[in-house]
Amino acid sequence: MLTLKVTDINQYVYCPRIPYFTYVQPLKPRPTPKMDFGKEAHTRLDKLEKRRTLAAYPELEAGERKFHTYIHSARLGLEGKLDLHLVHRGEIFPVEFKSTSRRPGLNHKYQLTAYAMLLEEQYRKPVRRGYFKLVNPLADGARPEKSEITLPVEITVPMRDFVKDVLRRIRAMVTQESLPSPKRPGNRCRDCEYRIYCLDLGDLAR
Ligand code: SF4
Repeated sequence: MLTLKVTDINQYVYCPRIPYFTYVQPLKPRPTPKMDFGKEAHTRLDKLEKRRTLAAYPELEAGERKFHTYIHSARLGLEGKLDLHLVHRGEIFPVEFKSTSRRPGLNHKYQLTAYAMLLEEQYRKPVRRGYFKLVNPLADGARPEKSEITLPVEITVPMRDFVKDVLRRIRAMVTQESLPSPKRPGNRCRDCEYRIYCLDLGDLAR
């Protein structure tokens, strides 16, 4: 079974062509200025978070924080490196850092769900909730607390089933070597690292 990365789930939901360009016709992504900016903000948040307490996470007054853990499941054929997870009174909570001025999209929620599924297998415990730590890269860097939100997300059974379905669909696409149709070309193409390769989209991808 082809081992996939958790980020493949995010990317497939964003646009199924991206995992095609990763596994079937490997192409080098071209980072956009927005992505470079977002990575800097993510690194800043990562450093800040290591100095903080758990006060931002509702109901978790104490607990252990584990940064940048590699997690893997042979059963799911899935692996990934998670920004942070919290261990509190026998419960486990994945945390994803996102640099964005918008609320997380479905692609981000399914990525968080996939991390929850990996943690469930590693700890042999159900994971009922995860968190997004959002930082607005456009906000005033002098007052970072004003630009950050901690957002809880319930991890449901349908979300887990959807993740398994995405894994099946990516593997089928790789086996069949079929170029998927773009998903709603437009804004998401403008911010995409692969847009120079989607020549069939013409002006929509520029
Ligand atoms: S440019 Fe658009 S269609 Fe092409 S991979 Fe990116 S999001 Fe998908």
